[in-house]
Amino acid sequence: MAIRKIVTLDEGNPVLRQKARRIRRVTPAIQQLMDDMVETMRDAAGAGLAGPQVDVLLRVIVVEVPKDFEDPDAGTWLYALANPEIARQSGDVEEGQEGCLSIPNIYGLVERPPAVTVKGLDRSGRKVRIKAEGYLARVLQHEIDHLEGTLFIDHITEQGKLFRIEPEDVEEEPATAVAMG
Ligand code: ZN
Repeated sequence: MAIRKIVTLDEGNPVLRQKARRIRRVTPAIQQLMDDMVETMRDAAGAGLAGPQVDVLLRVIVVEVPKDFEDPDAGTWLYALANPEIARQSGDVEEGQEGCLSIPNIYGLVERPPAVTVKGLDRSGRKVRIKAEGYLARVLQHEIDHLEGTLFIDHITEQGKLFRIEPEDVEEEPATAVAMG
């Protein structure tokens, strides 16, 4: 595995704004990409990562969130998905805070449906459906957006719902600002 460089918006690399291509099948090269993305996400302390963020314009995402925020021993939900799409969404939109590894130090309040079913291919190339709600549902939607060239800031139209949190403040209170990926 290898840590890949995360593209940030201020670099002006158009990859973050382009539509990623579907993959035909999960080859060893795609598995390697998934493994690298997991390592890169963990290294950056993110909750997810999408192909374009590591300069690969393919529809691949990884997501890892705690099973229980109150209990660190509960472990995490870890997903690596190719061609993920939202098959179903439900519930009234809820506002939640998001950050992005490609837009450092900027956070915002984004409205999204609280529950989604995501389908795609797992690391073995098998079809999977993931029923998610809460934070996991939010991270999945954030990462799938990246495959369309959409960033969380695009969902924010109201002034005051986009703000800056300095890294030193995050250190004091890590839970206040998690960059998703
Ligand atoms: Zn992001």
